[in-house]
Amino acid sequence: MSMETAFDAIIIGAGPAGTTSAILLADAGWRVALVDKENFPREKVCGGCIAASNLPLLEALGIGDRFQTLASPPLRQVAFVCGDRTIRASLPPYADAAHPWGAALRREHLDALLLERARQCGTHVFQPWTACTVEGDAGEFHCHVRALRNAETRVLTAPVLIDAHGSWQPLQYGAGKPQRHHSPSDLLAFKADFAGANLDPGVLPVLSFPGGYGGMVVTDHDAVTLAFCMRRATLEQARLRYPGCGPNEAAGRWVTGHCGAVRDMLAGAAQERKWIATGPIRPGIRIGRQPQHAFLVGNAAGETHPIIGEGISMAIQSAVLLANMLGPHRENASDPRWQSGMRTEYARAWRRHFAGRIRLAAVFAHAAMHPDICGSVLPLLQRHPGLLGRFARWSGKVRSGPRVGNNRIVGCQ
Ligand SMILES: Cc1cc2nc3c(=O)[nH]c(=O)nc-3n(C[C@H](O)[C@H](O)[C@H](O)COP(=O)(O)OP(=O)(O)OC[C@H]3O[C@@H](n4cnc5c(N)ncnc54)[C@H](O)[C@@H]3O)c2cc1C
Repeated sequence: MSMETAFDAIIIGAGPAGTTSAILLADAGWRVALVDKENFPREKVCGGCIAASNLPLLEALGIGDRFQTLASPPLRQVAFVCGDRTIRASLPPYADAAHPWGAALRREHLDALLLERARQCGTHVFQPWTACTVEGDAGEFHCHVRALRNAETRVLTAPVLIDAHGSWQPLQYGAGKPQRHHSPSDLLAFKADFAGANLDPGVLPVLSFPGGYGGMVVTDHDAVTLAFCMRRATLEQARLRYPGCGPNEAAGRWVTGHCGAVRDMLAGAAQERKWIATGPIRPGIRIGRQPQHAFLVGNAAGETHPIIGEGISMAIQSAVLLANMLGPHRENASDPRWQSGMRTEYARAWRRHFAGRIRLAAVFAHAAMHPDICGSVLPLLQRHPGLLGRFARWSGKVRSGPRVGNNRIVGCQ
């Protein structure tokens, strides 16, 4: 790796938000450092569903063809699973695209594709390196990073800092340790993959069960991913109900125990890999509330309950929004006043695009976690299954997001 430590922008986190930012800024001529503490490809607790409105962006980012080759067949239907009842409906197509329906791809593939592209565009990738602390302010940030392999440390400097580190570990600014408090309402997240499950590849089941919600999807190579969130208090109940099981297995059995369709789909299926779990997740809006002056993208800026499967969209689209604003103005980057104006403008645009989606997802999530609420809505959904497609539309699945500047393809200016 080069010894370079001075950049125009440091990006912390190489999930879809960080890599998209890196690709677009590097393509606009910025010297970009991208830091991630994990070695890729890495697994992630995520369903990997990507709404159709992102497919033109993946094309513009230069990974459209690879995505289409690796991803699941198009997702044309949604199935709402609550207790022993299942309601199916068509998903609305995205009108303005060659590919009108979304698809799923495991995160180890998606994130690796985006990272490879960022490298091709000239990004300096520090991986696996942890960003430990950040000092300084807009115009001159100093980011202390440490290599996981040999504990080597470096200080990277840049006028612009982009936080794309997701939501699960708060990033540390200056001295002081981040505080963590456990609460029974914390939402913990789980994922496992199954071979031989009985799920139609074009269908996206959304699961509602007491104390949680989730989804299933056929990802690459016919594997079915089951990913869900569960309250900490519910996990405790599950552990009491299934005493011989570890926490992840108990959580899984709680879901199959409450959702008849999941039981049927997984009957005879073989679990491919061990459960992975993470959390608590922190849905909510963070942009504009941070004391420091970094630009926030993806989950670092705001996180939806994953019931609507829009987190990757918001990660990619927020990065496109930001890069469209910053990209053409590299010469202004070291001016803190210019950055301050950009932060305000970006936060405003961010809210316009994403705040509604986050609030709506919170409503859906809380309803899904309460079977009594769901039970009262089910007769209506049974009579009008088209409402499910409408919910998908409201949650942003087919809404046009920001476009990469003038619809160009990155690397082909
Ligand atoms: C159960 C579940 C299912 C989901 N299913 C879907 C779905 O089907 N579709 C969808 O669109 N979304 C889904 N999501 C949401 C989606 O996973 C996230 O919204 C998305 O990953 C956010 O992307 P990001 O780039 O902001 O952050 P992340 O993908 O979390 O990436 C952050 C990166 O930062 C790195 N990092 C963190 N701290 C540091 C540090 N200090 N130094 C260096 N690196 C650091 C991490 O290693 C990580 O690679 C789901 C979430 C859950 C919990």
